[in-house]
Amino acid sequence: MEFSREKRLKARLAGDRRGDLYPHSLQFYLQPPTENISLAEFENFAIDRLKLLKVVENLGVSYVKGSDEYKSRLEREIRKLKFPFRALVEDDYDARRKDHISHFILRLAYCQSEDLRRWFIQQEMDLFRYRFNELNGDLVEKFLKYVNLSYGAISKEVKEKLAVQLLNSTPGLSGAKVEELEFYKLTARSLPAVQSDERLQPLLNHLSHSYVGPDYSIQKNIGKISLEHIDALSVKSFPLCMRQLHKALRDNHHLRHGGRMQYGLFLKGIGLTLEQALQFWKSEFIKGKVDADKFDKGYAYSIRHNYGKEGKRTDYTPFSCMKIILSNPPSPGDYHGCPFRHSDPELLKQKLQSYKIPPTGITQILELVKGMHYQLACQKYFQLTQDVDDIGFSLNHPNQYFAESQKLLSGGREVKKEPSEPESSQQKLSSQKSTNSCSIPISSNTEADTELEGLDAYFTED
Ligand code: SF4
Repeated sequence: MEFSREKRLKARLAGDRRGDLYPHSLQFYLQPPTENISLAEFENFAIDRLKLLKVVENLGVSYVKGSDEYKSRLEREIRKLKFPFRALVEDDYDARRKDHISHFILRLAYCQSEDLRRWFIQQEMDLFRYRFNELNGDLVEKFLKYVNLSYGAISKEVKEKLAVQLLNSTPGLSGAKVEELEFYKLTARSLPAVQSDERLQPLLNHLSHSYVGPDYSIQKNIGKISLEHIDALSVKSFPLCMRQLHKALRDNHHLRHGGRMQYGLFLKGIGLTLEQALQFWKSEFIKGKVDADKFDKGYAYSIRHNYGKEGKRTDYTPFSCMKIILSNPPSPGDYHGCPFRHSDPELLKQKLQSYKIPPTGITQILELVKGMHYQLACQKYFQLTQDVDDIGFSLNHPNQYFAESQKLLSGGREVKKEPSEPESSQQKLSSQKSTNSCSIPISSNTEADTELEGLDAYFTED
């Protein structure tokens, strides 16, 4: 008798799913999932894991890792998002499955560049470390055996002998606990193994641009921005990247193509109509070396293209932070990019000083930049420039920054006093568009990326 793949899978899952597929709540993600899942589930899993990793990142810079506050907040988020919490519940197959699949989806999305990979591995390691430390001795032993890590616990005698050293080298450990805990010979070395896992390499090589982020393609405020207000808005509500571009445009009456794309799509996202955009760019360019005729012939087409009125008539989406941070780094003479990522720290410091950011705030921002937490540095900049205790959102997009600032300034939202909640509900996997089911792994060369590359060609004139 023949079974379809789906029927076979269901039969298999019904029979052994809890016992065989996920015998432990903690995983080493050795094998990628092979089952078919719906697009909706794919998307939800990815968004939830991204939320979780964002919380891990936020907590990691706000609290001492491993402290009670850190642990209780992380526990709350893990429970809320329905990921496996401790290995005590036997019947948490769904949570374990979600943990497994979502990890691999984000591997795909976050393997496209060194920066992304580093961010992903760091958050996954912190999450893993937290969950590993929550296991009791028996479960640690079971887990290590399951993943073929032959690290033996040190004996009671050795533990007593090394008690002081163990105490000093283990953050957050009190004296009494040394006796209760198991210590493993060289255990810490198992964590970097995740980083050098050669199985990642094929994925890293074959995936290009899976992008996870908010969707700002819909112009909610079209026509609500007046050109006369842009200077004031750039100071009050633009993120640093756009403020920098706006200033460079005003100063030089020109922006090179990378800047025009990044800033032009941002302005479109905040509500500039095509007519306004044409007027805005033209009025500035003709103050410089470009005359009106050259503008109409050389630049107007690209702006109309930007608005989907030329070429393939694609409505182009403003760039997310990730795209700005990771692609097309600025060269000398360029003003695009993310200043937290691409500026020399000393220049960034000077810029922040000139924007009247207090010295302690500048130090905090530079620390975050040093730790490569560029979006968190930008969140701190938001907090300081908008004068709020806590910004109440997790930043992913320059247009999100603008929208949140405008909401604040118009009194449209209460500022939360709780630490930032991750990701807005607008997040979507923009690479997953038209199918209603998919398998993992997937190809990530998206239509949108191809179209964007097409658009790039229209902006090549400096
Ligand atoms: Fe712009 Fe995002 Fe960088 Fe902030 S983090 S400056 S919004 S690219």
